Amino acid sequence: MEPAGPLTVRRHNRGLVLAAVASAPASRAAVAASTGLTRGTVSSLVDDLLADGMLVELDAPRGGRGRPANPLQLNPSGPCGVGVEIGVDDIAACVADLTGTVRVVRRVQSRHRHRAPEDGLHRAAALVRELVAETGLTVAGARVALPGVVTPDGVLQRAPNLPHWQDVAVAAPLGDALGHSVTAANEADLAALAELWTGQGLRDMLFVSGGVGVGAGIVLDGRLFRGANGRAGELGHVVVDPAGRACTCGGTGCLETVAGTAALLRAAGVPDVDALVRDPGPALDVAGAALGTALAGAVNLLDVPAVVLGGVYGRLGDDLRTRVRDALRSRVVTLPPVRVLRAAVTRDAALHGAALGVVRDLVGA
Ligand SMILES: [Zn+2]
Repeated sequence: MEPAGPLTVRRHNRGLVLAAVASAPASRAAVAASTGLTRGTVSSLVDDLLADGMLVELDAPRGGRGRPANPLQLNPSGPCGVGVEIGVDDIAACVADLTGTVRVVRRVQSRHRHRAPEDGLHRAAALVRELVAETGLTVAGARVALPGVVTPDGVLQRAPNLPHWQDVAVAAPLGDALGHSVTAANEADLAALAELWTGQGLRDMLFVSGGVGVGAGIVLDGRLFRGANGRAGELGHVVVDPAGRACTCGGTGCLETVAGTAALLRAAGVPDVDALVRDPGPALDVAGAALGTALAGAVNLLDVPAVVLGGVYGRLGDDLRTRVRDALRSRVVTLPPVRVLRAAVTRDAALHGAALGVVRDLVGA
């Protein structure tokens, strides 16, 4: 292995300094002590980070002897991360500052099922510009959550609920429109990362994102498992009823046809998700049984200790959670029994995961 060059070392050390002040303000001396870097190295890095707007110096605490040290913290007015979500029936965006605080979130209706992708991308760019202008922050980058299989270079390869969005470049045209770096990823994967970073401290889990489609994010040892081609987690197209309804993917009886929002609204006899959450009725039995069947296969295969119910499932409450738990316990061979939890973030989780991912990359977390 070649020795790391001076630039690589400096970038690594810069990450150490940022990480040292990320959880709580710390003085230069405290940063040197916690990172093991020399005082001189820390001072030089801190000067650069102050000049770049990544750090701010707080006022020194009063009292005590000698010259008080100014604590350093991540700059809430520094570069920000933008999260964008292109859904089947809507577009959302949010802006997270360098400390990870989400400053503004907005979701607008925008039906993409039968429209050309250019239209959706144009609207997404307009929404981002609007939100960024409101915060007055400088954008470091954006990440887009998409309801399908996404390539590493930001092309939406396939999204069964968006028939016009096959092999559509999303990251590149949005980057051109916005004038900064844009990446894209699957929405359930990003929601799983939001749960990993801001949730209940689970480092191994199967995160299930319920919506028009049903996606899963697989987190093993604190890392997202994407599969050989980034397609892992297509839980919605696991067959739960071989004699069932036709699915948008071309198959029959997929989980999505029984436990996607369209099926749940039909089972509950209500017009929209808010009404479903208020009065789910028989929809909980339908979703609980179908999820139990699909998840039992996944849990037996992967040996994950916890299933986290997110998106609409997270909003449907403990009645759904206990149904899924009971269904799993009767079918899963692992001991101790798999835990079934509601997600910590049930609204906009993918959006938060997208924006926080940009910020964490900046900070080197
Ligand atoms: Zn399907």
